[in-house]
Amino acid sequence: MAQRAFIIPFILLLSIVAGMPSEASERPTPDFMLDATTKMQGEFFVATVTGISSAPDLRFKEEHFTMFRQDNGSYRALVPVENMTRPGSYAFLVKKGKWEQKIPVGIEANNLPVQKIWLDKKTNSLKATKEEKAQVKAALRTLSDTKLWSGTFSYPCDGRKSSPFGVKRSYNGAPVSSYHKGLDIAVPRGTPVSSPADGKVVLTGFESNRFHVHGNTVVIDHGQGLTSIYMHLHTISVNEGDMLKKGDTLGTVGSTGISTGPHLHWGTYLYGTSVDPELLVSKEY
Ligand SMILES: [Zn+2]
Repeated sequence: MAQRAFIIPFILLLSIVAGMPSEASERPTPDFMLDATTKMQGEFFVATVTGISSAPDLRFKEEHFTMFRQDNGSYRALVPVENMTRPGSYAFLVKKGKWEQKIPVGIEANNLPVQKIWLDKKTNSLKATKEEKAQVKAALRTLSDTKLWSGTFSYPCDGRKSSPFGVKRSYNGAPVSSYHKGLDIAVPRGTPVSSPADGKVVLTGFESNRFHVHGNTVVIDHGQGLTSIYMHLHTISVNEGDMLKKGDTLGTVGSTGISTGPHLHWGTYLYGTSVDPELLVSKEY
């Protein structure tokens, strides 16, 4: 009994000492973490900073990325690795006041095949109009503070994947100039397309209103730099400003714009750069 009576006050004393703030531990030390130090083209890094009270300055490849506050008080950015990034060594740099931290990273080639596409003269001369280019670009670059999505993404429609994300494209024998910025799902015209995650409709574009290449198009903002696009739709059943829940129908599959047959082109973007949609389906971010 006497022994126990001694142990309890001793533990109490220890916990008081541990809880007392000392000069050095008054402010938590910021810490910068990445989910991995190597990624492939078309993937993204999860950059997190803890122990900080406002957003730090985050840079990767000379570009600034806004970091967003999370529910647990940390700051986070999902930083895209553009699909045409030259494989090699790069670094992340994060700064806030006098504190800074650098993490070297590697980018690997995804070795996706080059697709040779031959277009007839008429199709080859069809370029996206100024209007559709500008509106789509602006919508895909939406940066909003609130994270609207949670959990994994679902496929917007079920069907055969007819063209994966990232395959590099050469048109009419010319060198590779672009790549497939999304996932194609071949399904019959009229198949409903559902939102893969919660979000807000930030663009509806129509073929009848100069969306000659994209066709009828919807862009959804999922928050914190993540957006998604649905192209070549037959019909659109949402309006700009609508809040969508995961599974809500946004339209139907079609073949509007430049398209060789009914299919959905689904793209996902971080800070306006396309990343592989499959990443968001397979894991929760
Ligand atoms: Zn496509």
